[in-house]
Amino acid sequence: MEKNLDVIVVGAGAAGLTAGIYLKRSNLKSLVFEKSAPGGILLNIHQIDNYPGVPKVSGPDLAVNMFAQANELGVEIAYEEVKKIEKEGEDFVVYANDVYRAKAVIVASGMASSKARVTGEEAFLGKGVSYCASCDGAFFKGKDVALYGHNDRVAEEAIYLSGLANHVYILAPKETEFEEGHAETLSCLENVELIPMATLKEIQGSDHVEHLVYEQNGETKTLDVSGIFPLREGAGSSTFLYALGVEENRGFLVADKEGKTNVPGLFVAGDATDKKLRQVANAVGEAASASSAAIAYVRSLKKS
Ligand SMILES: Cc1cc2nc3c(=O)[nH]c(=O)nc-3n(C[C@H](O)[C@H](O)[C@H](O)COP(=O)(O)OP(=O)(O)OC[C@H]3O[C@@H](n4cnc5c(N)ncnc54)[C@H](O)[C@@H]3O)c2cc1C
Repeated sequence: MEKNLDVIVVGAGAAGLTAGIYLKRSNLKSLVFEKSAPGGILLNIHQIDNYPGVPKVSGPDLAVNMFAQANELGVEIAYEEVKKIEKEGEDFVVYANDVYRAKAVIVASGMASSKARVTGEEAFLGKGVSYCASCDGAFFKGKDVALYGHNDRVAEEAIYLSGLANHVYILAPKETEFEEGHAETLSCLENVELIPMATLKEIQGSDHVEHLVYEQNGETKTLDVSGIFPLREGAGSSTFLYALGVEENRGFLVADKEGKTNVPGLFVAGDATDKKLRQVANAVGEAASASSAAIAYVRSLKKS
């Protein structure tokens, strides 16, 4: 396998596969690294309804299609974990199973997976448990649902769900951190109810979610709902970049509209980016922009 490359992509999820396709078509020498399986988080998603052109597609089917397209075009994937990236002059030195060099790197490594799960959370994933209300809210039309978390994303998702669900509970484990505007909107919504200082303990049901067990002020209580959105604080998965001094926010990389970070030649796309909305459509769009910018960057180095 070629060790001296023009562009290296870290991650083969929706963003990384898109970047791989754009780079392959540019004729630059590129390689995509994947530590697990191509498709990334798509492999864990039951159904996607909001990605144009493929209605009601399962996450794994979308992943297989993206991978097949990349494969047919000849996108090369190295099944290795990128452990560290350093900069030496204009080159990035990428440490995986071997040592690789590239003029530019596109980080498409997604989010770090949350390990803090409660009993029932994994078993009911796609059967009432979801991590994205704006993706899966439509499945809960007219039903009672709950959100678990305390940050502003919870407020946004509760406002969105209030237009679809019958009743929306917010189980907040800590003091809420809602923006003033969101807090005001929520206080006017009659079908949204805040349950403060509530710690989720268990998700129960038969085929689908039916009850939540939570603790409030030392008392164990239950709540009947058809859906639960555990929205714990996420984090980026960019620890392998520690040597580069890249600007980040909770591990998510700060970048401009072309995916350029503060480190020349280092780009980011998809869930690894510091942004509000994490969806397939913008992961793919950002990867198209980041790879075009990376191609222009490498070509400008070659000319100089
Ligand atoms: C439950 C759930 C439901 C969702 N539903 C929808 C929906 O309905 N509609 C929608 O548009 N979006 C949905 N999303 C969001 C959407 O799936 C993501 O925004 C998108 O898939 C992110 O793609 P990505 O390529 O940025 O990241 P990922 O898919 O996370 O890919 C990152 C890849 O990088 C690899 N990687 C990480 N670190 C390294 C390393 N050091 N070396 C090598 N490889 C590495 C990982 O193994 C992974 O394969 C949902 C998300 C979840 C969790």
